[in-house]
Amino acid sequence: MYDLLIKNGKLANGHFVDIAIQAGKIAKISTNIIESAEKEIDLKGLHYISAGWIDSHTHCYSASPIYNDEPDLIGVTHGVTTVVDAGSVGADDIDDFYQLTQKSSTNVYSILNISRIGLLRQDELADMSDIDLDIAKETINKHSDFVVGIKARMSGSVVKENGLKPLVKAKEMQAQNNHLPLMVHVGNNPPNLDDIAELLTKGDIITHCYNGKPNRILTPEGELKESMKKAIKRGVILDVGHGGASFSFDVAEQAIKKGIYPDTISSDIYCKNRIAGPVRSLAHIMSKFLTIGLSLEQVINCVTINAANALQMDAKGQLEVGKDADLTIFNIHHEPCTFVDSEQGNRQGNESFLPLASIVAGQVITTQHGEKTDVFNS
Ligand SMILES: [Zn+2]
Repeated sequence: MYDLLIKNGKLANGHFVDIAIQAGKIAKISTNIIESAEKEIDLKGLHYISAGWIDSHTHCYSASPIYNDEPDLIGVTHGVTTVVDAGSVGADDIDDFYQLTQKSSTNVYSILNISRIGLLRQDELADMSDIDLDIAKETINKHSDFVVGIKARMSGSVVKENGLKPLVKAKEMQAQNNHLPLMVHVGNNPPNLDDIAELLTKGDIITHCYNGKPNRILTPEGELKESMKKAIKRGVILDVGHGGASFSFDVAEQAIKKGIYPDTISSDIYCKNRIAGPVRSLAHIMSKFLTIGLSLEQVINCVTINAANALQMDAKGQLEVGKDADLTIFNIHHEPCTFVDSEQGNRQGNESFLPLASIVAGQVITTQHGEKTDVFNS
């Protein structure tokens, strides 16, 4: 007897499946599972199911003085089973952050800021002595199940006079720690994107990839910059990291037209841009990508398998026997909606993701929308 059986779920590719869960793992996937389970949810072919959504760039250290939020408010209440905090915390506060996450229903991971002070200040890479390789190594070893990468914010306002030096240190830190994924934020120059991109190697992640600032991935003529062409060829990963200042519909549309798709769709969410917009939720950001032409399957891949691969989370991101039983149940809601980017640009769409339930290690957490459907109330 299984712990949980989900019947007749619709996949993003249009197929239908039954999924059985046992001891927090996916135990069986088939078109028709006949064994019984303690609890059964019948989606009747009406509702979608996917691997649990992963938001690969968030800010959810609730004690952060600048960018803070509660993991569950950006996570399971909106269909997101895993949130990854991208650099709010450095070595100094990682113990506190880890303790705080223990009460969350959402899975939480940290991409450790290469500056030991984290986002205590906005210019955390202005003082090179805050990048301490020994302390970083100790921290990463101690929190090897929690820290999934390292983060370097390479904007002029963050690095001040240090230019590319913090990134050179970040690559050194990465080399000393089993080649952990490195996420690099690009914002206002200097340093220039060309110089940043040149230092990146296979698997490194550029976040804010469709930002509308002068340091964008496109030339003024709308072509992909040479440095980016080479970086993408080397296997550098593009992460959306929407945020309040880092997503332009114009840039995203031009890039996608040229075949420059996002690898991972993430929100860069924290309490302010969640409540006031333009971020709101990962689902809202995913809906923007449906609006500008990505298929349902492409969008889902960006928040499941691609995110898990980018951050080397082997047990997540796929509907496969033996993987963690993290799942998202959702609908596509058809109604006209105006979507706004970070540059006051907007687009009219007709489709929105509506998360109905998050399942984390087999535990079902119904969302507000899910409460209104009959599937979870039987
Ligand atoms: Zn961020």
